[in-house]
Amino acid sequence: MNSKPFNPFAMAQAQFDRAADFLSLDAAMRDLLRFPMREYQFNIPVRMDDGTVKIFRGFRVQHNDARGPGKGGIRFHPHETIDTVRALSMWMTWKCSVVDIPLGGSKGGVVCDPHNLSMREQENLCRGWVRQLSKDIGPLIDVPAPDVMTSAQHMLWMLDEFETINRGHYPGLITGKPVGMGGSLGRTEATGYGVIFTLREALKELNIKVENTMASVQGFGNVAQYAIQLYQQIGGKVICVSCWDQTDQTSYTFRKMSGIDLQALLKITDRFGGIDKNQAKAMGYEILHGDAWIEQDVDILIPAALENQITADNVGRIAPRVKLIAEGANGPTTPDADQIIAQRKIFMIPDFLANAGGVTCSYFEQVQSNMNYFWEKDEVLGKLDLKMTSAFHSVSELARKRNIYMRDAAYFIAVNRVAQACRDRGWV
Ligand code: NAD
Repeated sequence: MNSKPFNPFAMAQAQFDRAADFLSLDAAMRDLLRFPMREYQFNIPVRMDDGTVKIFRGFRVQHNDARGPGKGGIRFHPHETIDTVRALSMWMTWKCSVVDIPLGGSKGGVVCDPHNLSMREQENLCRGWVRQLSKDIGPLIDVPAPDVMTSAQHMLWMLDEFETINRGHYPGLITGKPVGMGGSLGRTEATGYGVIFTLREALKELNIKVENTMASVQGFGNVAQYAIQLYQQIGGKVICVSCWDQTDQTSYTFRKMSGIDLQALLKITDRFGGIDKNQAKAMGYEILHGDAWIEQDVDILIPAALENQITADNVGRIAPRVKLIAEGANGPTTPDADQIIAQRKIFMIPDFLANAGGVTCSYFEQVQSNMNYFWEKDEVLGKLDLKMTSAFHSVSELARKRNIYMRDAAYFIAVNRVAQACRDRGWV
């Protein structure tokens, strides 16, 4: 929650400016990287089940493709804005760069609430989104993927529309496809597991045994669920999760001091990551206000819901015991809150490093699609672990050597690689 007006793009630019100063980028390079290369905003007419036509607003923003085709998810969200998509596309550029995969940064979205759309209406919306962009996306141009409230099924409808328009098979158009339809095993787990691969390495660095730690998690969707699964598997205890309640239009935190039972909670969770309050209460969970996840007496916080969640308003409520924050979500911490976290010497695994597992696995999906040969799940997850661990150590080594904050170190590495690619291409 944030009482101040929040513009995610202004936040992404402020973070970039810090890196640009550190790297002494010249004016032209700053100008190039502070803004997206291309943006598309369009209307999508959709025939609804009752026969009426409704117009939805769609976006695609391509921030930078110096290191490879644009890559980034598509969100369906009622509060989607062009500035959110701009910020997310910029963060995608840094994300692909920090894990050193040959892709650039893009992002897309539609202003809609899929809770209120039938499957047929969602299919029409997906196909309409592709029709508006069929000349501007593609395996060698810009490759979409799922994000908040979009799934493998949405990706398959989009792929099918693109292949119908272009008459052929283009499995490299989109990632996050269903397994068996060009998707990669491990993609569903990849982002959440990636968060925990980096968290495991950070704990080693801090000399903390994972089995002695407790965590509180914001969100209970794709990223949160798999992060919790792996964290519990390696010995950690999660006492809190939170989610958005569609009926009450507010969020709640669900707490069980003895540790949450992931499998049991999943049984009472809808496909949007919403937990049934009454059933949770009957299962012994305390139902607290939405922001309560942040003030728990735990060692680790994992924000894995949305941007703008750790702010100047609530950062002071982070318990003294918290030693580590692993940002599963994109942009969960505002710059003013971030400063306080840095001063408190809480170890930060910044978003575009912590949650890069999804795009890394998407890259593996492209590689497998190109070969038309698909790896076993263990192989995918093993390769993912190697990539995430190596990216984490590059960043933490720089942070240690220069005595700088982890977010700054991640930015310096990521921005430097992109700037170098722009120079090498002769753009600046
Ligand atoms: P999701 O739609 O599967 O789940 C989102 C979860 O957040 C749900 O449980 C929802 O109830 C909860 N939520 C929404 N608003 C909330 C609020 N105000 N307070 C508490 N909970 C709230 O989404 P996801 O795919 O898990 O993505 C979560 C975050 O991770 C987003 O920032 C997304 O951009 C980022 N991310 C996702 C991926 C991916 O592969 N899915 C990759 C990288 C980054």
